[in-house]
Amino acid sequence: MTTVSYEAVPAVEGDAAAAPGNTLVMKFGGTSVGDTQKIKDVARRLVTAREAGQRVVGVLSAMGDTTDDLIRLANAISPQPHPREYDMLLSVGERISNALCAMAIRDLGHEAVSLTGSQAGIVTDTFHGKAKIVEVRARRLHAELDRDQIVLVAGFQGVSTELEVTTLGRGGSDATAVALASALGGACEIYTDVEGVFTADPRLVADALKLGKISYEEMLEMAATGARVMMARSIEIARRYGVPLHVRSAFGDGEGTWIVKEENLVLEKAIISGVTHDTSEAKATVLAVPDRPGVAARIFRALADAGVNIDMIVQNVSAKGATDISFTLPKTDLPATEPILEVLASEIGAKGVIYDPDVAKVSLIGAGMKSHPGVAADMFEALGDAGINIEIISTSSIRVSCVVRAAEVERAVQAVHDRFRGYAEERVGA
Ligand code: ASP
Ligand code: MG
Repeated sequence: MTTVSYEAVPAVEGDAAAAPGNTLVMKFGGTSVGDTQKIKDVARRLVTAREAGQRVVGVLSAMGDTTDDLIRLANAISPQPHPREYDMLLSVGERISNALCAMAIRDLGHEAVSLTGSQAGIVTDTFHGKAKIVEVRARRLHAELDRDQIVLVAGFQGVSTELEVTTLGRGGSDATAVALASALGGACEIYTDVEGVFTADPRLVADALKLGKISYEEMLEMAATGARVMMARSIEIARRYGVPLHVRSAFGDGEGTWIVKEENLVLEKAIISGVTHDTSEAKATVLAVPDRPGVAARIFRALADAGVNIDMIVQNVSAKGATDISFTLPKTDLPATEPILEVLASEIGAKGVIYDPDVAKVSLIGAGMKSHPGVAADMFEALGDAGINIEIISTSSIRVSCVVRAAEVERAVQAVHDRFRGYAEERVGA
């Protein structure tokens, strides 16, 4: 049996070596398969790749808003849908689009077979709704490809180690596609409704530029800070296993953006890769926290145990033995957070907790900023000159993020992009 493991195990060379080369995994997002004509167009594209001599695996997302519709259905039936049944339901969306595409390919005179995640050998852990792929058992895939089939795999799903159907979290078809490309030793094309990865959201910034290349690390930071082109986790898998990724438009034939190893970038020209924004987070502040050892640990341990994903944290200098602690968290985690913090605040003797949902995070990302001083200062100046107040700052070696008022997010993104416009132009040629 051919097996590739995903959890902290290096890629198994054997599989890639055994595959008779030329394998291409082509993933299509929900809008790219939004109606039956679009599915026929996708079928044609898969056939064209097959006729060019590639072994072709298609991974289609659910049509249009199907997944949202299924979630609405579940919530209309039950206030807390049972996790197992929820995954049984949600996994259906991708079965529909992939089966339809297989039919369309047959009508074009080619052999095609659609498979569920389970049939395709995608084995996951047991966390319903956000399962992680632990292994791809590629035997069936190899067999179908060897029989000259175009193989369609339902994205976003797998089968758990306990033999239950699982889903991989929103946008999970990307993870399916990247894991399959890794297991089969092929390249991965991500077809979407934009032409590639841009230096800012083109709907906000009219002069945003399309990047030719971006490193895995930059793409990860961009995805994690609001660029909605790809699911962040899928980029992590691609980076770990060195899967070549090409993000491109489903509605044209132009080159998109290649996601590559950092060493393939000209770092001097790669000071920045883009400005992203995210309005999905809220700010919480615990007021007048007693300034003594162990207090921050108690707050954040309790939130971690509840599965709340904390992002930025600031603790102010203490005055008169007390200090405010602010942090950001997904707005969707507020209902879980509020009761926990209420109890904690009184236990540790803090004055209270305030919540502020009207915030946005603006981030500047670039591989070259680690060796290029002044990038953060330029960003703060751009915001200052635009009269925009910065409420929280956090950084990584290739990212600077600022929390600002939500009402100012568009102006903030534009101001930062304007300031780095010259670098963006250089970058496109990097
Ligand atoms: N259909 C799923 C979603 O909408 C998975 C995907 O599109 O990748 O999240
Ligand atoms: Mg979708």
